[in-house]
Amino acid sequence: MKMRSVLTFFTGFLAGMVFLLVLLWSHGSLHPVRAAGPFIGPAPPEVAVPTEAPTAVAAPAKAPPAVVPPATTPPVVAASPVMSSTDIGGLLFPVQGVDPSKMLDTFADKRGGKSGTHEAVDIMAPRGTPVLAVEDGKIEKLFESKRGGTTIYQFDPTGTWCYYYAHLDHYATGIVQGSMVRKGQVIAYVGSTGDASATAPHLHFSILRLGPEKRWWQGTAINPYPILTRRARQ
Ligand SMILES: [Zn+2]
Repeated sequence: MKMRSVLTFFTGFLAGMVFLLVLLWSHGSLHPVRAAGPFIGPAPPEVAVPTEAPTAVAAPAKAPPAVVPPATTPPVVAASPVMSSTDIGGLLFPVQGVDPSKMLDTFADKRGGKSGTHEAVDIMAPRGTPVLAVEDGKIEKLFESKRGGTTIYQFDPTGTWCYYYAHLDHYATGIVQGSMVRKGQVIAYVGSTGDASATAPHLHFSILRLGPEKRWWQGTAINPYPILTRRARQ
């Protein structure tokens, strides 16, 4: 009797459980559980992502090589001043009425200056001959120096180059610091101020590649001779 009633209860309990399961199934309440299955499916891929993450960490390991190219870049920058004589082309000859072919290449001549070399060209011309802006740009600095005498530092429109005109007799009317000038504009007149011989007035002209600070007194000189004479041949 006792055993039978327990069996009956158990059977009834099982039947109830099966019914409940079927009920839950039909109502879809179990589906989320199934849905959780598919969700668990994608989850492993997410676990697989971390596996890819190490690969992404490996990419930063490739980043240092990317830092290496910058180290290669400076030499390229150092090489560009050499190329500059071509990309700076189109400068006007800075002294009116003078035949550029009469000019000598004295860029590398030994002079008594700090650099030891001339780093410029000298364009001989009678005192008072108009000095012309070789390019558009800005009169960055009007400066009096012991050696250069009365001088002009002109920046090109991009602030890459500085044109230096020295031994000037005097500035043209209206030329002040900050003036914007046009190519061919008269900016000064040939003279012999500074350490130039009074009997040999000339324009001392140089082209300087400006540094990142764009300081008129700091630049790397390139030889104006091939630039000015090539212009003359064209
Ligand atoms: Zn000179």
